[in-house]
Amino acid sequence: MIDTVADSATNVDAARREYLKELLANGIITSTGVSGVYGKSGLFERVLAGFDRFVTESGIDQRAEVFRFPPVLNRADLEKSDYLKSFPHLIGTVHGFRGNERDHGDMLNMLEAGSDWTRHFHHTDLVLTPAACYPLYPMVAGKLPAKGRLFDVQSYCFRYEPSDDPARMQVFRQREYVRVGSPESVRQFRDLWLERGQVMLRSVGLDVQAVVANDPFFGRGGAMLAASQVEQALKFELVVPVASREALTAAVSCNYHQDHFGVAFGITNDDGSAAHTACVGFGLERITLGLFKAHGFETKSWPATVRTTLGL
Ligand code: ZN
Repeated sequence: MIDTVADSATNVDAARREYLKELLANGIITSTGVSGVYGKSGLFERVLAGFDRFVTESGIDQRAEVFRFPPVLNRADLEKSDYLKSFPHLIGTVHGFRGNERDHGDMLNMLEAGSDWTRHFHHTDLVLTPAACYPLYPMVAGKLPAKGRLFDVQSYCFRYEPSDDPARMQVFRQREYVRVGSPESVRQFRDLWLERGQVMLRSVGLDVQAVVANDPFFGRGGAMLAASQVEQALKFELVVPVASREALTAAVSCNYHQDHFGVAFGITNDDGSAAHTACVGFGLERITLGLFKAHGFETKSWPATVRTTLGL
């Protein structure tokens, strides 16, 4: 049994490395020398933009308020969100140089000597955005209108997890719809997108399954948080084959945060109760990689319905 599990893990790792090699060899992505950080070809971007448009068309009935934020977040907002408690291992912080000319000279000497020049850099008020919906919650602090609000956001996100799995990038784009309001409206929204997300992925030829999932909480306390998240079915993932059919990859996640962000950021419903929130996040790079895996690197030979849906 243990051997079978180990063999299967080795097979999955090998399949992931093999797919990465194919993507690089076919010029779909290019290496930067850092695991999980790639340049993307025009073809990759056309497919990704096609799916991004499809997300817009599929959510047209939501009449979402559209916001686009830069890939950095106010450090104080990350501190309020509990992210430091739950996911310290995924955070990226932004540092900057504030020294004088002497410090600059010292830093260049350190660079020349091959020693650690980064100690001349100090933290700024910024961290890298961990998920596309994070900049929204501080923005909507205060009392919501009676019907709550619904948003459409997209952002580059960062998670510090270098990997040779092409689907586990350190920097990637998330497109999300986010609902903020009463518990009923938020659960309804989550259920709607759990179904709609599956229909969407199926319609572009991806073999999708919905599974109950948990976030990668840190440490021993994290294991308990993860178990409770699964028990309450707060997070669903729509998983598809990317590098391997054996280990599927989360392409979309539907998250019900209950009143976590409502309490943290002082977002209240019309009746004064803490707002509930949920988001559905499309992993645009992962979906694009899944599409290339399913249909090949020549988009001209993709099924006509898929090409039409993606405008290719
Ligand atoms: Zn989100």
